[in-house]
Amino acid sequence: MNSSKPSTRTKFIFITGGVLSSLGKGLAAASIGALLESRGLSVTFQKLDPYINVDPGTMNPFQHGEVFVTDDGAETDLDMGHYERYTNAVMAQKNNYTSGRIYYSVISKERRGEYLGGTVQVIPHITDEIKNAILQLADTVDVAIIEIGGTIGDIEGLPFLEAIRQFRFDVGRNNSLFIHVTLVPYIKTAGEVKTKPTQHSVKELRAIGIQPDILLCRTQSVLTKSLKEKIALFTNVPTDAVITAKDVKSIYEVPVLFHKEGLDDKILELLNIWTGAPKIKPWEDLIKKIKNPKHNVVIGIIGKYVDLTESYKSLHESLVHGGIANDAKVELRYVSADDLEESGSADALAGCQGILVPGGFGKRGVEGKILAVNYARTNRIPYFGICLGMQLAVVEFARNVAGMEDAHSTEFDKKTTHPVIYLMKEWYDFRTKQVQVRDETSDMGGTLRLGSYPCNLHKSTFAYSAYAQKEIHERHRHRYEFNPDLREELVAKGLVISGASPDNTLVEIIELADHPWFLGCQFHPEFKSKPMKPHPLFREFIKAALAYSQEQ
Ligand code: GLN
Repeated sequence: MNSSKPSTRTKFIFITGGVLSSLGKGLAAASIGALLESRGLSVTFQKLDPYINVDPGTMNPFQHGEVFVTDDGAETDLDMGHYERYTNAVMAQKNNYTSGRIYYSVISKERRGEYLGGTVQVIPHITDEIKNAILQLADTVDVAIIEIGGTIGDIEGLPFLEAIRQFRFDVGRNNSLFIHVTLVPYIKTAGEVKTKPTQHSVKELRAIGIQPDILLCRTQSVLTKSLKEKIALFTNVPTDAVITAKDVKSIYEVPVLFHKEGLDDKILELLNIWTGAPKIKPWEDLIKKIKNPKHNVVIGIIGKYVDLTESYKSLHESLVHGGIANDAKVELRYVSADDLEESGSADALAGCQGILVPGGFGKRGVEGKILAVNYARTNRIPYFGICLGMQLAVVEFARNVAGMEDAHSTEFDKKTTHPVIYLMKEWYDFRTKQVQVRDETSDMGGTLRLGSYPCNLHKSTFAYSAYAQKEIHERHRHRYEFNPDLREELVAKGLVISGASPDNTLVEIIELADHPWFLGCQFHPEFKSKPMKPHPLFREFIKAALAYSQEQ
C-alpha cells in the first residue's frame, strides 16, 4: 500500500473498547458476526493485540487466559475461540496479530535492508504493516470484523488506532465502521446509571481522530431513551446507534439481544449493504434449550488453573455444548490437582458424575491428576482425558493395570524404565508433510505438535460411535507422544487404541473396553465445538455422565 486506495468488495468493522477491560469485546465481535451470517453474509475476524509477545503461545494462561489453537497451528488469543464458536469462520495465523509480531516483521525487513536506508518509524512503517495485515482479509468475505485488544487510552494501542483511522480514510466511509464498546455503570449510592465514563472514552477516541459510529454500552439493565439521548448528545453518535449491551446469563443470548436493539439493521444501513431478514430462530431456540434443561450433571475438572475459568475457556464452553446436546445443565466443579496430590485421596471427587483431566504442562499436580484417573477408572465413572489427561490415563493404566510400576511420561520422570509417554525423536508430520526431528534440547516453542492432524478411527469403539466416521481431523498442542515401543504390551493388558495417525505411528485416542465410558485423546477437541454443533466427544461424555447419574 499505502497511499493508493485499496478497492475491495469486503467491508470492515473495527471494534474498540473503552473505560475498562473485560467488557466482552470479543463476544460482541463474535455476536455481530453471527448476526451478519444469519443474514446470509460471509464474515471473518481479526484480533489485533497490543502486547509485545509475538504470539500468546509462551504466555501463562493464568495471566492471559487460554491459548487457542487454529487448524494451521497458530497459537492465538482466546477470542479466536469465540469467533469460531459463533460463526462458520475458520481462524488462522493471519487472524491474530500482536504488536510484537508487527514490530518483528518491520525490524526483520529493516535488517534485510528493505527500507533502503530510510528512517524506520511508527508512522508510516508500523502503521503500514498493520494496514497490510488487515488487508489480507480483503476479498475473502463480505464483512471482516477487526477487534482491537486493550482499552482506549493505553499507550501501546496507539499504533493500531492510528492504522485503523488511516484505513477508514483509505477505504471510505461506506466500506468501514467504528464500533466502540463502553461501560455505563450503575452507581448504587447515587441510585443512577452514569454516562460520564462513556463520554470520556469517546472523547479520548475522537482526540486521535476516530469518531465511533455505534456505541455498545455494557449495562446491568436496559438504557432508557433519555439516557441514550444524553449519550448521543455528548458523543456525536445518533441515538439509534447507541445500543444497550445488557448483562445476560448465557453468552449465547448476546446475538439475539443485539438484534432486538437493532444493531444488525444499523450496521447494514451504515455499510450500505442490502440483505434479507435475518434467520434468528436457531439462536432463539438455542437459548430456550439452555434456559430450560431437563437434567443436571456434575462434572469434575481436575486442573492447575482452577481459579480461572478463562484458562479453560473453550473446554468450559464445550462442556456446555455437550449439555445442550443432552438437554442437561452441566455443573462444573473445578478441583485443584495440587489439593488432590497433597491429600493423597480422591475424596474431593465424590459426587462427580463425570471426571475430566484437561491439557496441561509442568509437573505440579500430576500425581493428583493420576489419582483422579484412578478414581474414575476403578469407580467406573465416565472419564474424559484431554492431551495431558490422555497421557496420564496411559500412565495410570500402565502402573496399576499393566504392572509397570514406575511408568511415567519422560516430561516428568526422565529415568523411568517404562516411558509410556516420551519425546518421539523422528516422525512423519501429516500437516507439514515433512519428517520432524525433536529432542530434549530443541527450542521450547519449536518442538510442539501444533494444529490440525488426521486420525483414523477403529470401529466398535467409543470414539467411532461418537464421530460415526472413519477419518477425523483434530487440533493438537503438545510435545510428548504415546511410546510405540510399549504399545503392544499395554494393548495386551486391555488398553484400546481407538484412533491413530494414518501411518499408525502416533496414538491419538485410547479407551478402556471394560468401562461405561473412558476415553483419552491426544488432541484438543474443545477447539472445535460450537453451541449449534456440539463436539461428538463432549456430547458422548455428557451422555455417559448423565447415564451414570441416573444409575446412582
Ligand atoms: N505437557 C504435555 C505435552 O507437552 C501435554 C500438553 C497438553 O496437554 N496440551 O505433551
